Amino acid sequence: MIKTRFAPSPTGQLHVGSLRTALYAYLFARKNNGVFILRVEDTDQKREVEGAMESLIKILNYFGLEYDEGPRYGLECGKLKEKGENGPYIQSQRTEIYRKHVEILLEKGHAYKCFCTKERLDEMRDNQRANKQAPMYDRKCCDLPESEVKAKIDAGETFIIRQKIPYEIIKFKDLIRGNVQFDGKIIDDQVLMKADGFPTYHLANVVDDHLMEITHVIRGEEWLPSTPKHIALYKSFGWHAPDFAHIPLLLNADKSKLSKRQGDVAVEEYMKKGYIKEAILNFIVFLGWNPGQGEEREVFTLKELEEIFSLEKVHKGGAVFNVEKLDWFNWQWQKEMYNTEFRQKASELDPQVTIEESKRGPVFTFSDEEKTSEFQKLKAQYLLEIADIPENDHDQELLLRALFSIEDKILKESKDTYENIKFFFELPEYDKELLTHEKMRVDLKEAKASLEAAQKDLAKLETWTLNSLKQTLLKTVETLEVKNGQVLWPLRAALTGMQFSPGAFESAWTLGKEESIKRINIAIEKI
Ligand code: GLU
Repeated sequence: MIKTRFAPSPTGQLHVGSLRTALYAYLFARKNNGVFILRVEDTDQKREVEGAMESLIKILNYFGLEYDEGPRYGLECGKLKEKGENGPYIQSQRTEIYRKHVEILLEKGHAYKCFCTKERLDEMRDNQRANKQAPMYDRKCCDLPESEVKAKIDAGETFIIRQKIPYEIIKFKDLIRGNVQFDGKIIDDQVLMKADGFPTYHLANVVDDHLMEITHVIRGEEWLPSTPKHIALYKSFGWHAPDFAHIPLLLNADKSKLSKRQGDVAVEEYMKKGYIKEAILNFIVFLGWNPGQGEEREVFTLKELEEIFSLEKVHKGGAVFNVEKLDWFNWQWQKEMYNTEFRQKASELDPQVTIEESKRGPVFTFSDEEKTSEFQKLKAQYLLEIADIPENDHDQELLLRALFSIEDKILKESKDTYENIKFFFELPEYDKELLTHEKMRVDLKEAKASLEAAQKDLAKLETWTLNSLKQTLLKTVETLEVKNGQVLWPLRAALTGMQFSPGAFESAWTLGKEESIKRINIAIEKI
C-alpha cells in the first residue's frame, strides 16, 4: 500500500511551493489508491508561529486535499482532533518516542553525546574557514570514554546528541533525479537531539516516516542534501528506507530561487486576491509537471488530476513561477464556471432553449425575446458580483447592460471593470477624427453619411434588442452599398467616444434608443 505524507513546519504562511509538495504527495497517493497523511513538524519551537498550523489545515481543506490521517478540525468548531492509527501527528506531542529512538542509536554506536560549548564550536569553524576547509564538527566528543561522559553529566554539563555519519559513499535512487550519491566523509555529524531534549528535524522525520509506514517521501529539492543523513539513519536503525522523490525548485522569471522580493509567495495572498481555487491548483500542478505528449489540455479538475498524475512526468529542472500563467488559468476557470452555471440556468429558464457549443463558449437561442433579456439580466447580475465596481448612483439597468456588453473582459480581468464601462454613463470629450478610419477608408464625409443613415434607421426601430439592432444596421450597410466597417466604425465611435470599446450593436443596445440617437446627433454636429 502506497503511503505519502505532507510534513510542513508551521513557521508562517503556507508557501506556494509547499502547497505544490502537498498536492503532488496527495495526487500520487490518490492515483495509486494509497494513503495520504498530514504530519506537523513543529520540533523547532523557536520558529513556530502561532496559528500557522490551524491556517495550514484550513488551506488544505479549502483546496480539497483531504488527508486520511492527521490532525484536523472536528465537528465541534475549532477543536483539533486526530484521524488515524499512527498518531499523534503533531511532532511536539511525540518527544518521548524520539528520546527512546535516540537511545537505540547511542547504544548501537551510531550516535554520541557532544559536550562542546558554543564558543568552542565557533572557534573550530573559524579556524576551518581560515584554512579553506568546509566547516564541520571535528568529532572531539565522538570517542569519549564512558567514564568521562558520565563525569561530565554528573558535573551538570549540558550536551547534544550527534549522528555518527558513516565514512562511506551513501547512494540512493531518487524517483525524479535518478541515481544520487554523497560521500559520508564530507557530511557533518548532524545534531539529532538538542540540549533541551527536543529532536531535530532529521531524527523526528526519519522516525516518523518509518513508524507511520511512509513508502514515498515526496518533498522539495532543497531537502536533497539531507537525504544521505536520513538514509544513514534508516540503516543505523536497521530499517528499510522509503523511496524518495525530490521535486524541482520554484524559480522567479530571472531563474533565481522564488523569493518574496519578486512577488507574493504565500498561498493566502493569492486567495485574498480572489484567484479561484481550481485555478490556483491547476497552475501549481503545472509547476514542474505536465501530463505528457499527446495531451494538449491544460485545464483539469482535482478529480481529473487524481487520475492522470504520475511522478515520471515530473521534471528535473526548476519551474518558473509565472503569475501571468496563473491569470490565464484563472480566466479559463472563470469562463468554465460561468458557462456551466449559465447552461444550467438557460435550461431552467426556457426548456426550449438551444445551446450551441462554439470555440468561444456556448451560444444560447431562446424561444422569445423576453426570455433572452431575462437571461441577459441574470448574467449581468453574476458579473456584477465578480466585477470591481465602486459605489455609484447610476441607473442600475444601464449598469447591468454595460456589464453584459463586456462579459468576456470581466471574466478575464475583473479588476478596474469600471474603467471599461464608464463612457456608457458619460460621453467622453473626443475629437471628430475619432469617427474616421484610414484603413477602412472612412473619412469625415463618409462618416457623416453613415451616421445620418444609421440614425434614420434606428429612429424607426421599435424593439431595441441585440438581434433587431444587428438586422437593422446590416440593412443600413446594404442600402449604402458600403462595407460593414464603414458604418459600424463611425457609429461605434459616436456611441462611445472611445478608441476601443464593445462593438456598435452591443454599445447601442446598452445605451438604449434615446441615448444612442442623442450621441449620434452629437457626432453629426461635430463634423
Ligand atoms: N518539515 C519539513 C518542511 O518544512 C519537511 C521536509 C520533508 O518533507 O521531509 O518542509
